[in-house]
Amino acid sequence: MSLQEIKTRITAAEAAADRPAGSVTLIAVSKVQPNTRVAAVLDEGQRCFGENRVQEALGKWPDFSQTYSGLDLHLIGPLQSNKARQAMELFNAIHTLDRPKLAKSIARLAQELGHCPDLFIQVNTGAEPQKAGILPEEADGFVAECRGLDLPVKGLMCIPPVDEVAADHFTQLAEIAARNGLAGLSMGMSGDFEQAIAHGATHVRVGSAIFGARAYDTQA
Ligand SMILES: *Cc1c(COP(=O)(O)O)cnc(C)c1O
Repeated sequence: MSLQEIKTRITAAEAAADRPAGSVTLIAVSKVQPNTRVAAVLDEGQRCFGENRVQEALGKWPDFSQTYSGLDLHLIGPLQSNKARQAMELFNAIHTLDRPKLAKSIARLAQELGHCPDLFIQVNTGAEPQKAGILPEEADGFVAECRGLDLPVKGLMCIPPVDEVAADHFTQLAEIAARNGLAGLSMGMSGDFEQAIAHGATHVRVGSAIFGARAYDTQA
């Protein structure tokens, strides 16, 4: 697979869903990939990237930003409150806001820093004990709480359970977003991004289909 092929497939999926061309943002998930592969994708013009870990991202993106302008960096992995400041300084968007304590830390830091990344609330649609995210039945209350803190919540994010029909989870996430007046839907990965687009994804997070298999897997 290549970046160009994925972009072609996204365009086709947008058309198949009667959605405007360009309505889906491709986040190229570069976690764990060697810098040479990331540089190749940057050279092809991609500017929007996703990372799982703050520390790993700090090790590569400040350097890349010396060479490449207009980077749009998204944190898609779990965020500890004690890394929130670093994350907010580096990333343009955080997709893993998932608990009140983190919301309060981000709100306080936003005051201090004078800016805040776009935020997506992660919903644990499969209610999996090992997975991060607010439970579906707590999502409405948490959205309201975040809005009360003046946080720029743009949408919701989910990672469907591996052994379940992803479309059911995409539908569920879209329903929660719609009833809360949220436009953003971060859903869909290498194996199911076209389905996610059919269900309204605005941001797809595609790693291995662009870069090739990861040498080891730190998937959260
Ligand atoms: C790693 C990861 C992806 C990308 O997964 P691929 O299957 O390689 O496309 C997407 N979202 C999250 C949250 C991830 O951790």
